[in-house]
Parts: sequence; structure tokens; C-alpha cells
Amino acid sequence: MKKHNFYAGPSILPQFTIDETIKGIQEFAGTGLSILEISHRSKQFVAVVDESIALFKELLNIPDNYSVVFLGGGASLQFTMVPYNLLNKKAAYLNTGTWASNALKEAKFFGEVVEVASSKDKMFNYIPKGYQVPEDADYFHITTNNTIYGTEILEDFDCKVPLVADMSSDIFSRPVDVSKYAIIYGGAQKNLAPAGLTFVIIRNDILGKVDRPIPTMLNYQTHIDKESMFNTPPVLPIFSALQTLKWVKTQGGVAAMEKKNIEKAKLLYDEIDRNKFFKPTIPNPDDRSRMNICFVMNDGYQELEKDFLDIASANGMLGLKGHRSVGGFRASTYNALPLESVQALVDLMKEFELNH
Ligand SMILES: *Cc1c(COP(=O)(O)O)cnc(C)c1O
Repeated sequence: MKKHNFYAGPSILPQFTIDETIKGIQEFAGTGLSILEISHRSKQFVAVVDESIALFKELLNIPDNYSVVFLGGGASLQFTMVPYNLLNKKAAYLNTGTWASNALKEAKFFGEVVEVASSKDKMFNYIPKGYQVPEDADYFHITTNNTIYGTEILEDFDCKVPLVADMSSDIFSRPVDVSKYAIIYGGAQKNLAPAGLTFVIIRNDILGKVDRPIPTMLNYQTHIDKESMFNTPPVLPIFSALQTLKWVKTQGGVAAMEKKNIEKAKLLYDEIDRNKFFKPTIPNPDDRSRMNICFVMNDGYQELEKDFLDIASANGMLGLKGHRSVGGFRASTYNALPLESVQALVDLMKEFELNH
């Protein structure tokens, strides 16, 4: 049976990425060797890194004064690397969920941290608005997509201090005005590649301003200077990421991704709003994520939650269980998820309503 992959991360990748990765594992770039067993400094692999960086720049329209680096350690290591490299005295954080809270917590090891606003009072079910960012902050950190609770900041806004964004779960899902950010980072395992790869987009002039010494591996400048080859980078995930980037380009780029993502999200949110058995967890439609669509059984029907999950999995729909801290359901609708998977879920929700 065809499976519909709604997992939040690691998550669905384009079939093209999987097929090309399999080919690369069998034989890589005419080397007679597998991608798994070649030197990261071979000219064939250096070409993979170069092409990946070039496609990052092309697809996201990244200005020339920015660098793109590929690292290990996950987005979680960036929670440390960002303040290590940027926080001299004070940093500002917007707390919109678990990942934002984790980032904020790490920054406290390095200096004063101001939580400018938090949506914790309502289980992170909205994006705070109308907050003030202190003008003497070294940077302001946001998490554009709240993977666990299902909210998303969809606008690139102006900020008087350098803006840093964790875009782990919505990178390449829409066009981004990179010039409004000092740093954009993320784990690749949501919308780009298998687990093990972290990307960082850095405006070059933001570095070199903190007073503390920075250990070599944790210093962004090291990785910029050595073009992501200071140490062995995650070779296979970078190779897979390149395939996804090629796929995004042939699909029409990030503008085409956004169009499809809007269509998928509308289809599912409309059904959640309409169907009497379900209700959304994010009340304000403007704050709803296009990548992680969270919903629960409507009031009075909570005892049917397990039934619906069982029926969904019997119909090949995997990964719909909400995060353990939220419960309910979460349908992750990343770039690679086809509209037909969302349609299948919507059809099942309608059928569930008819049968109960
Ligand atoms: C998954 C996720 C993380 C954690 O990523 P790791 O690579 O596992 O460290 C951080 N931020 C966001 C927004 C995420 O979705």
C-alpha cells in the first residue's frame, strides 16, 4: 500500500533525492567507489559542496556578502554557536515554543538574555505581536516555524538589531528575504536531507565582534575560511541535500514550493475547521504553520482520538500522532509531501465524520 508520510522530522524527502542517493551509494560520480567511501577532499566531493552552496545562493537569492556553511551537531548546536559568536553583552529572544525556549536557555551561558515576548501562557498557540526589541541587544533570535505546536512567522520583518532565525522546519518552503537576517540556520532533516547536516547562512560582517575567545570548531569563521572542510563534513547528507536542491529548482524554485504549500495547508485547515469531529489548535489563521498542521478531536469527541489514529495508520498514513508534549494530531506537510497525501487525509476525515 502507498504510504503517506506525515512525520515531523526526519521526514519525507523527494523520491528523486532517495533515488539519486541510492545511485551515489552504489557508485559516485564515475569514481568507481561509493559516496560512502571516498575522501571528502576528493575533487568530485568538493564539487558537490560547491554546487550545493551555489544552489543555496541561487534558490534563496542570497546576497554576495553572505556565506553558507555545512556543519554537524544539529540545530541544537547552533543554540550554542550563535551566542558564542555574537553575544557580547545582551541578546533578545522571542519565545514561541520548545525549540525557541531551548535556544534561549543556551544563550544564558553567554550573557544577559531578554525574553521580549512569550506565548507560553497559551501553550504556544499564537505568535506574540507588538513586542519591543531592546536596541542595545547584540541580536534578536526568532524561530520562524514552531515545529511542535504548529505556529509560523511567515513575514520577513525589519529589525533594528541583527536578526537571527532558526529555520529548521521551513527553509525552502517559501521565498525568504535573506538580506533582513544576520544568520539563518537549521537542521536539514525536516525539509532538505537525511539527519546529520546543519546549514548556516551568515552575513560576513556580523562576526569578529565578541570579546571572548571562541574555540576553533565553534567559530563560524573557521568554517567560512575552510569552506566547510575544516574537518570531515557530513558527506552523505550533503550529497542528498544537493539532490533536494536540484529537485526544488526543477520544480520551479521556492516560489513554486510556497504555492504548493499554501494549497496543501488550505485544503487541510479548511477541513479541520469544517469537520465537527476536529478542531485546530492554533486559533488565529495568520499564525498557522504551513509545515506542521496541528489539530485535536473536537470537544466531546476526545475519546475517538485513538480510533482516528488507528484508522489513519490502517490507511497508510504515518506520523500523524502529535508531539508527546501536545497530543492530538500533527500532519507535517513539507515540500516533498504531495497534495494527494493531504487529499487522502481530508477524505479520511470526511469518511470518519460520516461513519460516526
Ligand atoms: C527539529 C528542530 C530543532 C532541533 O534540531 P536538531 O537538528 O535535532 O538539533 C531545532 N529547531 C527547530 C525549529 C526544529 O524543528
